[in-house]
Amino acid sequence: MRFEIVTIFPGFFAGIFENGILRRALAEGLVEVGVHDLRAFTHDRHRTVDDRPFGGGEGMVLKPGPLAEALASLGIGPRAERQAEDDAAPGTRVILLSAQGRPFTQAVARELATLERVVLICGRYEGVDERINQIYCDMELSIGDYVLSGGELAAAVVVDAAMRLVPGVLGNEASGEFESFGLADAEITSDREGVPRSQHGSGGLLDYPHYTRPAEFGGLRAPEVLMNGDHREIRRWRREQQLRKTLANRPDLLEGAALSQEDRKLLEAIRQQTRAEQ
Ligand code: SAM
Repeated sequence: MRFEIVTIFPGFFAGIFENGILRRALAEGLVEVGVHDLRAFTHDRHRTVDDRPFGGGEGMVLKPGPLAEALASLGIGPRAERQAEDDAAPGTRVILLSAQGRPFTQAVARELATLERVVLICGRYEGVDERINQIYCDMELSIGDYVLSGGELAAAVVVDAAMRLVPGVLGNEASGEFESFGLADAEITSDREGVPRSQHGSGGLLDYPHYTRPAEFGGLRAPEVLMNGDHREIRRWRREQQLRKTLANRPDLLEGAALSQEDRKLLEAIRQQTRAEQ
């Protein structure tokens, strides 16, 4: 899988992918990242990438010309033309990072991780001339309900989240299926024979809390259940913790989560307990 990042600040990405899992994925060639300086596609002495907005108002807008040339240099034409080719060779998506975009979620990250190439356009100033979005982009993505000063941080977030879900990047022990926003048990197809299943696929819930040595720290003991080796009990405890955390911190996720009958009963018990404690 390859990411292409178009930016006026290519230096921003120096070192950013040179740590941990991502560095290994790049070193092993599972993932590639190309960073492209938008100013290389200007033709004036000042290498101008922006201009004043039509209609007046604050700030500057990234001009469409250099962006179109940058995309052309990557072999990216207008979306309408690409769609016909994509039927033959699926796999390229052009994404505009924007506070106005649809939310970037783990589900979107999973979708991107199946593609051959993802092109990320980083806006700056007031944003990008809307015609770039209209002509070239497959989607606008927002990494959250706040305004960043540029799309570079957002691009790094998208690359990080999608790249770790590319097959082979995460080891078995850290499979993306068992973490926050992961898949439901029924959707997990990878072979786990012989591995004690002490966790559920999260099915859209938040992860459960994790503990490690020492067993006692700061006057608190790690939960006994995690130390008794009973994987059924551990699995049940972890599921309950997932439900508790999700109910406390992200109750909105419960609506779309894959919940079993047992989960629903547990959730009801937790709700009743919480009400009783209030
Ligand atoms: N005028 C824009 C608005 O109000 O929606 C904000 C522009 S922002 C200062 C400059 C650039 O930062 C945007 O073009 C976009 O690429 C990036 N950006 C800002 N917030 C973002 C977010 N939440 N998610 C993704 N990209 C964002």
